[in-house]
Amino acid sequence: MEAKLIIFSAPSGAGKTSIIKYLLDKISSTEFSISATSRKPRQNEKNGIDYHFMSVDSFKKKIKNNDFIEFEEVYANVFYGTLNSEVDRIWQNGKTVLLDMDVKGGLKIKSIFKENALSIFIKPPSIKALDKRLTKRALDTQKSIQERLKKSEFELSYAEKFDIVLENNDLDKTKNTAFRIVSEFIGGK
Ligand code: 5GP
Repeated sequence: MEAKLIIFSAPSGAGKTSIIKYLLDKISSTEFSISATSRKPRQNEKNGIDYHFMSVDSFKKKIKNNDFIEFEEVYANVFYGTLNSEVDRIWQNGKTVLLDMDVKGGLKIKSIFKENALSIFIKPPSIKALDKRLTKRALDTQKSIQERLKKSEFELSYAEKFDIVLENNDLDKTKNTAFRIVSEFIGGK
């Protein structure tokens, strides 16, 4: 089996996490690459499941050790990175890697793995819709929500560089479309 990766990028609150969870559940030959981050865990998050949470110092040590395929400082002094060990582990299991990444990291992975990687951008209907979703889910502080919204405009400007752009107007429909696209890519059609 060819070693493949599927990259998902989107502004915060666009529905990316729900779509990824749906695909992981429906397609047993996919596995999530658990990133490392220096961000603090949210209330419902678990170390080693959602992320490998660590201090900025530990993250920087891993950078020095060349432990990352890619990493980005997504927010000021908040680092996120894809570990070589994660991707290798998933491929050794004979599975396709699913990645949740910021736009820069996503395009970097695409440029490394080329036709073995599929990059998908999830587009929210509007910035206003994002604001509503972020406020409603109440996972972040108001300051962090504002920071995420500001970043959204920058991220949206990257959409067209992705292999596929999915506009998420209706979550169930978007999940189905993503399922079809990902299944075809894994099947090699
Ligand atoms: P959050 O704090 O909401 O979990 O994630 C913030 C941003 O970091 C999201 O855009 C998410 O996709 C991105 N991110 C998560 N893991 C990685 C990673 O390993 N590399 C990069 N470049 N971005 C990541």
